Amino acid sequence: MKTDVLTPTEENLSLAAEKIRAGEVVAFPTETVYGLGANALEPDAVKKIFNAKGRPADNPLIVHIGRVDDIEKVASYVPDIAYKLAEKFWPGPLTIILPKSENVPKITSGGLDTVGIRFPSNPVARRFIELCGVPIAAPSANLSGSPSPTTAKRVFEDMNGRIPVIIDGGECKFGVESTVISIDRSGDSVKILRPGAVTDEMLLEVVDSVVIDGGVLHEIPSGQKALSPGMKYKHYSPKADVTLVKGSYEAYSEYVKNNPKDGLFCLIFDEDEAVDGVPYVTYGKDSETQAHRLFEALRELDERGARFVYARSPESTGIGLAVFNRILRAAGFKIVEAESE
Ligand code: AMP
Ligand code: MG
Repeated sequence: MKTDVLTPTEENLSLAAEKIRAGEVVAFPTETVYGLGANALEPDAVKKIFNAKGRPADNPLIVHIGRVDDIEKVASYVPDIAYKLAEKFWPGPLTIILPKSENVPKITSGGLDTVGIRFPSNPVARRFIELCGVPIAAPSANLSGSPSPTTAKRVFEDMNGRIPVIIDGGECKFGVESTVISIDRSGDSVKILRPGAVTDEMLLEVVDSVVIDGGVLHEIPSGQKALSPGMKYKHYSPKADVTLVKGSYEAYSEYVKNNPKDGLFCLIFDEDEAVDGVPYVTYGKDSETQAHRLFEALRELDERGARFVYARSPESTGIGLAVFNRILRAAGFKIVEAESE
């Protein structure tokens, strides 16, 4: 299959929307990462997403809508708090999990009775979804297990020959996937299943309490059910063996010097100096720029043939929690506390 990369003109977006209506898969930009979209209500179309990515069938897809009212097309029950959250954070990087309506096939929800719903803010995504006229199921547009793409070039590397169209909307604004939340039965508390750009503090402006699910910071023991199925897979991983190193720059650089390896790269902050001639890639200077850069940095490490990576641990507050969560998974939960002598 030939893969066309199209600029987001009105004509091209109409063409891409036609592909969707014909049951095909189209990659498109959002404010988080690029998505791999298909008609969420059409099982055969959704199956093509799983095939293109090589995604496990029990990992549910997020359904993207183009206006708040469409929430009722895909959810069977919408509590008041969901409308309040939607009013505050939509369009934007927040996915709300609700009981799914019968319209949504089980293949879309990974076999679950619930569905994750999001109304993205990226203007190209909004126009595209509007032109499609159907809810769009879309996971990140990478091959399963590799870092999410934040540019059309990275989507092309993974999806060339697998899908007919990629819409090139430039770099994604945030660079990490959406915040995924569930709402508890009483309706006044939410649980963060996957951290993103909508932070716990922001959510507290609307709800009384926010709980961070254990799966965000800890490995889910084998055999235990993951509330957010994507969290149980080793995810966002470059090919290299990554270790997350906590501590000051001094402690970090001592750790690097004391633990040399063949094919070692450092993953450090913009202002950090190289350690002892070890090659390095940088990923930002604060939580926002780290979110924006992380996945691209992981792909760069692969390109440069890194076999081992010592990653400096980011701050884990605000959007930093999303950065920490992704890098912890890229490291397969290998984390060391470095101390300077
Ligand atoms: P991706 O589309 O690659 O960003 O992954 C979407 C992630 O959202 C999944 O891996 C799940 O962890 C989470 N998710 C989507 N739908 C649900 C749902 N119904 N229940 C729980 N988690 C969900
Ligand atoms: Mg993904």
